[in-house]
Amino acid sequence: MTTMETRERGLFIGGVSRPSSDSSYIETRNPADDSVLAAVAAATAEDVDDAVRDAARAAAGWAATVPSRRGRILNAMALAMRERAEEFALMETLDNGKPLSQARSDVEGSARYFEFFAGAADKINGDTIPLGPDYLAYTTQMPFGVVGQILPWNAPLQQAARGLAPALAAGNACVVKPAEDTPLSALALAELAIQCGMPPGVLNVIPGYGEVAGAALAQHPDVRKVVFTGSVPTGRLVNLVAAERLVPTTLELGGKSANIVFGDADIDAAVRGAAKGINANAGQNCSAGSRLLVHESVHDEFVEKLTAINAGLSLGPGIEDPDMGPITTREQFERVQEYLDIGEREGVTVIRGGTSSEQRSPNGYFIEPTIFVGVKNTMRVAREEIFGPVVGVQSFADDEEAVAIANDSEYGLVAGVWSTSLSRVHRVAARLEVGQVYVNEYYAGFAGGVETPFGGTKNSGFGREKGLEAILHYTQARTVVIRL
Ligand code: NAD
Repeated sequence: MTTMETRERGLFIGGVSRPSSDSSYIETRNPADDSVLAAVAAATAEDVDDAVRDAARAAAGWAATVPSRRGRILNAMALAMRERAEEFALMETLDNGKPLSQARSDVEGSARYFEFFAGAADKINGDTIPLGPDYLAYTTQMPFGVVGQILPWNAPLQQAARGLAPALAAGNACVVKPAEDTPLSALALAELAIQCGMPPGVLNVIPGYGEVAGAALAQHPDVRKVVFTGSVPTGRLVNLVAAERLVPTTLELGGKSANIVFGDADIDAAVRGAAKGINANAGQNCSAGSRLLVHESVHDEFVEKLTAINAGLSLGPGIEDPDMGPITTREQFERVQEYLDIGEREGVTVIRGGTSSEQRSPNGYFIEPTIFVGVKNTMRVAREEIFGPVVGVQSFADDEEAVAIANDSEYGLVAGVWSTSLSRVHRVAARLEVGQVYVNEYYAGFAGGVETPFGGTKNSGFGREKGLEAILHYTQARTVVIRL
């Protein structure tokens, strides 16, 4: 099967699919050839109200469900995702553009989220607090009630799973607003949840426009926590709305992460890691290693080897499983092209890689893997997130300079460190103003680093997803003090 039939998809509220209240819809396209994949209902503010009220009704029952039973339902979702992995991967490839093998890995990562947090559901322990013989004091972790989740388009299934699995394990009901361009896998996930025994209303999905459905979700009085993954300007807006309502947020925003290669690194491993760090998902990763800091002693060798890797990368429709697929949205495609022009105007040397344009589908949103050499950290291409397969190389003279350049950014999501010196690795990692540091590999572990807490500092946001730490961001402690 290489195509998906064009079809209509509804909002998913209360366990059923239905059109939006004004019958409006958004066409979602295949970025490999610009064809229409599906017409997806676009939620109005009234639909969002329905979805949140429905979730609020379901929330109390879900919170009162025996935790091990919640865990079993989440585990059933993990198993079902693995059984239907090809179907989910194909859907994600067609909607988002990523190569099939990367989509398969995203499906496995998503199944891992459900499996991991299924196991956590009955281990969300409280504490006892010693107040002396006349008291018993203890805490329990309460769910918030309804959690609103607003998602971006770069890893739609994995990001839905990342936020939903811990939120649901902790006993919250969720209303999800996927990105306009990639709503299909979140809708499929909600259907799967019902098939796996999730009570209707515990997980509602309302595709639609950010300014309408996203804004209505963030503003809704029954949404008690807002989780937003996306750009800094929208994150700021959502956080302002939440601040006005005095509800907590988790913000996972952009990045301009430094990947630092020291002179004592295993250069071949570092080059492979740097290529993966920027080219995976065509560079559309918040945690992409987009600022490549290379020690001056190995700079030229490094650029030469990275150029050779990029030259060999195949580009094409995700369905053909090339090394790199198209950019996911037309708007982002145009934005990356603008940055290629900005780089040239700022005076960097531009090295393009990838297969020749004739081999690509003519209407697809393809950008070759690109290296900017001679970047200064003051340039726009070093300060602004490009969100495409474009890496800027800067050279440095010593550890002090490397750390100073890495930290000189409005962002602080992740960083990479390549060195064979144990003490240098620890010294440098401790000074990087980021939420996660990868050493001698880029990206955490396998299948998305489900187990390791992830999130930003500075403009990359706050709060943490992934790992057991995520549970703390989907619950609040309640303390009970008993005078004996
Ligand atoms: P975006 O901010 O444009 O959109 C994100 C979501 O917000 C979409 O669902 C959109 O519809 C919604 N939205 C738009 N306006 C809204 C409003 N006024 N109120 C409420 N919701 C609104 O971001 P994007 O372009 O989809 O995603 C790319 C950005 O996301 C990049 O900056 C990237 O770094 C970041 N990102 C971060 C992470 C992370 O975990 N830190 C992961 C993936 C992407």
